[in-house]
Amino acid sequence: MDTNDTGRIRDFLDGFRWDRVAHLPYKEEGSAPFKDITRQVLFADPRLHCELRYFEMAAGGYSTLERHAHMHGVMVLRGRGECLVGGEVRAVKPYDLVSIPPWTWHQFRASRREPLGFLCMVNAERDRPQLPTVEELSALRADPHIAAFLDGRSAS
Ligand code: MN
Repeated sequence: MDTNDTGRIRDFLDGFRWDRVAHLPYKEEGSAPFKDITRQVLFADPRLHCELRYFEMAAGGYSTLERHAHMHGVMVLRGRGECLVGGEVRAVKPYDLVSIPPWTWHQFRASRREPLGFLCMVNAERDRPQLPTVEELSALRADPHIAAFLDGRSAS
């Protein structure tokens, strides 16, 4: 008998994949704007009340610009990129930690040359993300650093 058939211990594999973890699309296509991003749900046992996911965007890829009542705890694991959290745009590198408070606009972007992969901790029960309205987007764009980030001009 394979002593590792309980799923309690799953191997890390080449290419930032894990044994017995499905490689999923980030979201339903067309539900919100995003580019070249995949999702792997590493832990989702209901007894945990939280999930740990690994998201990875290819060079030039980005997550959806969104906000919601639930929080995220993020640890970068791979590559280079930038994130927007509220009014702040910051370069991120492996092992950096990013806290995303409730109702705070956030987005991740891989650099133009490298992918960006990160772990994201989230409540199992959570509200649906909101996308910015035209007015909210122009308010964000009033800051030139944020406008450059949103246009993909700031990531190296
Ligand atoms: Mn989010």
